[in-house]
Amino acid sequence: MLSIIPIPAFRDNYIWLIRKGMRAAVVDPGDAAPVIAYLERERLQLSAIIATHHHNDHVGGNVGLLARWPVPVFGPARETIPGRTNALGEGDRVRVPGIDVTFDVLDIPGHTAGHIAFVGSLGSVPAVFCGDTLFAVGCGRLFEGTPTEMWSSLSKLAALPSETRVFCGHEYTLANIRFALAAEPDNRTLIARQSREEQKRARGEPTLPSTIGDERATNPFLRVEVPAVKAAAEAHAHHLLENAVATFAELRAWKNVFQ
Ligand code: ZN
Ligand code: FE
Repeated sequence: MLSIIPIPAFRDNYIWLIRKGMRAAVVDPGDAAPVIAYLERERLQLSAIIATHHHNDHVGGNVGLLARWPVPVFGPARETIPGRTNALGEGDRVRVPGIDVTFDVLDIPGHTAGHIAFVGSLGSVPAVFCGDTLFAVGCGRLFEGTPTEMWSSLSKLAALPSETRVFCGHEYTLANIRFALAAEPDNRTLIARQSREEQKRARGEPTLPSTIGDERATNPFLRVEVPAVKAAAEAHAHHLLENAVATFAELRAWKNVFQ
């Protein structure tokens, strides 16, 4: 029996802990302290660290955890990941020790140049750990990649089965929904999602995981080919946008300055 526990870190990060019996793996431990506190309280053994990209709010806890538990670190081949033992890229398949979960690796560059995602089944539930690439109702900033790369990475994630649970790195959902409503004000599914997610936050619960199906229905960055989203991006740009990448780029630039 697997359980997935969100460990909040910093202001709005989630470190995802995958637990099986008395063993656990952690995804993107930006801070060791809250992970150690959880493992000690539950008397768990750490069995692996999984990293999606090199930003410190995702790997900053690796060294502290490795000092206590010298476990394998699964991370992107094309980035510098503290303690990495298994360098991964598109097409690789890894079995994570302790929790006995198998992940397929996708290259999803754009937020960072070597960003990867881990796709697998948690029990019978399909899941993806996608770091800072796809967020609930949003996407990551383009720090090291082009709009073309990010659009192709998001399209890859959007093509996963609709029931796939989306475990991303930050609780940005409510702010993302405010922007999404500016881009697509008449999307009824999005309007309904806003009140659902606001209720979760009011109860102190995470809005995550999301699902790929929910993202396809409400995330403007996956919906740049929907006429209403394209028209909103064109209105913001004051010119016509010739293709999906151009619309995506405009939407991402608009979000960067959206208040
Ligand atoms: Zn990041
Ligand atoms: Fe981050």
